[in-house]
Amino acid sequence: MTRSQELFEKAGTLIPGGVNSPVRACKSVHCDPLFIARASGSKLTTEDGAEFIDYVMSWGPMLLGHNHPEVAAAIAATAANGTSFGAPCRLEVELAQAVVDAVPGIEMVRMVSSGTEATMSALRLARGYTGKNGVIKFHGGYHGHADAFLASAGSGVATQSIPGTPGVPQDVIKHTLLAHYNDLEAVQALFDAQGDDIAAVIVEPVAGNMGLVLPRPGFLEGLRELTRKHGALLIFDEVITGFRVAFGGAQAAFGIDPDLTCLGKIIGGGLPVGAYGGKREIMSHIAPSGNVYQAGTLSGNPLAMAAGLATLKALQSKDYAGLTARTDAFSRELENILRGKGAPVTRNHIASIFTLFFTESPVTDFPSAQTADGELFVTFYQQMREQGIYLAPSGYECAFTSFAHSDEDLERTLDAARNVRF
Ligand code: PMP
Repeated sequence: MTRSQELFEKAGTLIPGGVNSPVRACKSVHCDPLFIARASGSKLTTEDGAEFIDYVMSWGPMLLGHNHPEVAAAIAATAANGTSFGAPCRLEVELAQAVVDAVPGIEMVRMVSSGTEATMSALRLARGYTGKNGVIKFHGGYHGHADAFLASAGSGVATQSIPGTPGVPQDVIKHTLLAHYNDLEAVQALFDAQGDDIAAVIVEPVAGNMGLVLPRPGFLEGLRELTRKHGALLIFDEVITGFRVAFGGAQAAFGIDPDLTCLGKIIGGGLPVGAYGGKREIMSHIAPSGNVYQAGTLSGNPLAMAAGLATLKALQSKDYAGLTARTDAFSRELENILRGKGAPVTRNHIASIFTLFFTESPVTDFPSAQTADGELFVTFYQQMREQGIYLAPSGYECAFTSFAHSDEDLERTLDAARNVRF
């Protein structure tokens, strides 16, 4: 038995499913999880001492690579002064300034401790601000695990095919309206039918939880127009895309001006942070300047702020275009290799994110993502893992590259793919 297997067995007696977040259990790829002892740059080292080239990158946060020296130093220096005050600290103001400077749609920002908190708080604000209840989300979109969003969600919910959402009252979910991603007409129809009571449309501007799915030209613009016309807020969930699709997020890349933006992952530099922000006029409705309540004991935690600030500072001088080009060439070659073996492959790519779907059809929404062959993915995942390549254990997830991935890492990964037998 490996050390990972021993730990997983023990974990299963103490923690539901042996994990603190479901997809980590690797159930859908019929594997046990690897327990990670440490990480550096593009690499993970397991409790058994095996090294892996990582394309999960903590599900997105580690765009600089693991254990980046400047981020690690900032955390250590800050920890020397105490780890939590429950009172304002300078680093909160500095990170808020960095976020406002970076993200075009954000004039004011509130820090929270996870992406889930960011999206649920943004929705409460949208409802409080507009006085309306409805929210439109997209099939296969994942916005954390707050009740209102657990209808037809992507990520782990999609992977596990959980039907409906036990524990979520029908009364809560009845305000969640669903459309297919990239289907503007469906959104129009929802507004035509119930436009008087729709507080917000929440969307991942580039979808990342049904695998990577890009917005069709005009889709985001159309959402902006429709929400404006009907007095609803447009919420961009940039928990994955923020600081990754571009330093200013997908909104900067696509030139769209959302009312509210949710952030997570990279903004915490690997510590637990989320944030939501937007127009001053709307954000002023949050307590204590307004009456929409939202709070957090560890919100604005100094260690998390230091990690986020050091991360954003380091990212500012990074060559995003260069990483995009390398990721494009790498994922294209990966696609070619798999195609050469007779596998059907559709590749979606933007910036340092890509998904290879095992299907011939273009993937533009959740139903087309679901045409991908799950068994082929399992075969691919298992054989790559045996060769030291750590991919997300689900066909509905993204692969992430980072500024720490070397050309040698990418070459080694392509070599591993060349050895895969379907
Ligand atoms: N929104 C999106 C787009 C996400 O991908 C995620 C998590 N993967 C969340 C929200 C929730 O973030 P967290 O897991 O930090 O609660």
